[in-house]
Amino acid sequence: MTEAPIWHPFTQHGLQEPIPVVSHAEGASLFRKDGSEVIDAISSWWVTTHGHAHPRIAQAIAEQASRLDQIIFAGWTHEPAEELARNLRALMPNTLTRVFFSDSGSTSVEVALKMALGYWLHRGEARHRIVVMDHGYHGDTIGTMSVGARGAFNRAYEPLLFDVTSIPFPSPGAEQSTLDALDRACREGAAAFIVEPLVLGAGGMLMYSAQTLAEMRRICATHGTLFIADEVMTGWGRTGTLLACDQADIAPDILCLSKGLTGGAIPLAVTMASEPVFDAHLSIDRARMFFHSSSYTANPIACAAANANIAIWRDEPMMKRIASLAERQAAHLAQLERHSRVQDARQAGTIAAFEVSIADEPAGYLSDIASRMLAMFRERDVLLRPLGNTIYTMPPYCITPDQLERIYAAIGEVLYLLGDTR
Ligand SMILES: *Cc1c(COP(=O)(O)O)cnc(C)c1O
Repeated sequence: MTEAPIWHPFTQHGLQEPIPVVSHAEGASLFRKDGSEVIDAISSWWVTTHGHAHPRIAQAIAEQASRLDQIIFAGWTHEPAEELARNLRALMPNTLTRVFFSDSGSTSVEVALKMALGYWLHRGEARHRIVVMDHGYHGDTIGTMSVGARGAFNRAYEPLLFDVTSIPFPSPGAEQSTLDALDRACREGAAAFIVEPLVLGAGGMLMYSAQTLAEMRRICATHGTLFIADEVMTGWGRTGTLLACDQADIAPDILCLSKGLTGGAIPLAVTMASEPVFDAHLSIDRARMFFHSSSYTANPIACAAANANIAIWRDEPMMKRIASLAERQAAHLAQLERHSRVQDARQAGTIAAFEVSIADEPAGYLSDIASRMLAMFRERDVLLRPLGNTIYTMPPYCITPDQLERIYAAIGEVLYLLGDTR
């Protein structure tokens, strides 16, 4: 417990809920000051991929911090950024030829939207409508809230959010209406379509097929609508492949990456663009340059961490590790499915999710059940943060079978305490 004058994110301080202090971490474990261990079942909000305090990433950060800590990136460059751009160019889809740096997932999305609008302006076509998917999440800034789901979390800002066209989430069996709506919006001259490939994270770990993803990409290409893949959460192996887009064998026009980019150690984001998007801004006219920057664009320490992350991907058996975690997740999910309160169990690679059916209680992000479950998991030394009545696990890839067992044992106990529905 702490008394510091901090205003925490997504926290209602009026409820006086305990805010535990973590003093150090290693792998999938967080430790309190007294040495007690908490299992990190959600990769500290979806960022930690190789585990906490990975020695290679920590060392890269330390070495870079004492060599070159920060340098303006407008008109200047440095080796860690150059190396990272070359690394990303080699790793990511071939058509994504340019790397633009920023510091968070939200910013990478803002940059993607600005690139798309610049593309159409400089081509001399009046296209500025953005198409989005129901239940999407792309960040908490005004622009990213505009392209995300509307609800209690952005009611106060609603008057400032810009207008978009929403297409329905492609629920199993209802995919055609999603595709038809996208086709209609593209025919009407939409500038861009932004979507989370395969898994809508904050919207409740909603999953849809690679086939639908491929179809959506094809429709956008047909009408010239730019396809923006927000892989901030799904990138870096989360869904079983390096990118979720890989499963549909597609490449977006613009790609947003952040969370796992530095292995989760330090903030950094990139927006990768295809050559036509870059080209639209290329000119001898300074008025056509891309007007975006932030103080810490391509911070050398963050870039060094990202290069260390990529070295780990190169040197360690990442796909094997991810496949093994996915297999264990599937086995645990199969066990849970027998419980009468467990509904709609689903999985995408290392992410497992299900709904807790609560007959008489309202569902949704602010439902009481979510905070009750959060407290029960905290008491069991597991960091799990249900989204409404959706429980999901998304652990670091290095989690041991024993640690994963402990997470599911806690879930089993919580379900038991909630009681049977029969
Ligand atoms: C987390 C997330 C973001 C926002 O990233 P921040 O680093 O929190 O700004 C954007 N898009 C998706 C899909 C995310 O999951």
